[in-house]
Amino acid sequence: MKLVLITIALACGILTPVSSSVGDNSRIYMDCLKKMEWENCINYGQLFKPESELQQDFWSSLLRWSCKEECRYRCMWMTVARFHSAERETPKFHGRWPFIRILGMQEPASAFASVLNFAANAYMFRKLRRMSALKGPATPFVKFWCVFAMVCMNAWVWSTIFHMRDTYFTEFMDYACALSMVMGLFVAAIIRVFYLRSKPLTFLLLLVPLFYFATHVRYLHSGVINYDYNMKVNVFFGVLGSLIWLGVSWSQWSQGWRYAWRMLAFTLLSGLALSLELFDFPPKMDVLDAHALWHFSTAPLPLLFYRYVIDDIRYLGSRGMDKFAFKLT
Ligand SMILES: [Zn+2]
Repeated sequence: MKLVLITIALACGILTPVSSSVGDNSRIYMDCLKKMEWENCINYGQLFKPESELQQDFWSSLLRWSCKEECRYRCMWMTVARFHSAERETPKFHGRWPFIRILGMQEPASAFASVLNFAANAYMFRKLRRMSALKGPATPFVKFWCVFAMVCMNAWVWSTIFHMRDTYFTEFMDYACALSMVMGLFVAAIIRVFYLRSKPLTFLLLLVPLFYFATHVRYLHSGVINYDYNMKVNVFFGVLGSLIWLGVSWSQWSQGWRYAWRMLAFTLLSGLALSLELFDFPPKMDVLDAHALWHFSTAPLPLLFYRYVIDDIRYLGSRGMDKFAFKLT
């Protein structure tokens, strides 16, 4: 299946080979790494020699930075300094910008922003959970949105861990859980539109994204991740879900459901926030890059999103299920 997916992706021109970066390809970096590893590491770079001069701070050893990773980090900054003294631009390393570690965290700004996103989801989850006491036709939807909020909270936990410490496993979990959140919103849109029209059709429509999600997670688990391809999968389902939600909320707004402005605003602001990812610049103060800015900009959005969800449930609960299925035309 993976082969089929990659072939389709290649045919569509959405898969490009991962290129190595200027920084890790430079002679300065390669020589530094070779020398430093030879002088300090044992056990295939996993452990420090007892006489190693590399001293790790408490946080770095707590987050289990291996000797090889410590060497990579130090050689990276040594290479950056040499590039700057030769008046060359900051290079990337293994496809990523250099970040300064804070408390052992690899990308501290993105990690902190992920915590804020988690907090916003957790805060609204508590409000949503209080609604599960309400009995009525909208009860299954309260449960669905509670599960959705848990999926989001889980994704932000893994995003925090991944930005603190990038390993194969944390990268896999971050990418898989981020997709679960994007596809969750897409699935929610399908349920919201079709559920009361035709349950069999809804389940049939849900099988496609669920099957694709399982396939993509298997692909991510292979460890050979093409970042461009993964990003395009997220953008595809993100855009599709957003378009459906835009249609839903616009239709609600024009039928006089005034609270739908929140969903309209959420969808448009999410798109605007995502556009920050298109910028690609060396981190400001060696910490703040476009990815961190994107995570910071999405942090307040759950407040808008879940208020729409809560208003939608309340309104429908008060009007009955016939109003649930708003007119599509
Ligand atoms: Zn991230």
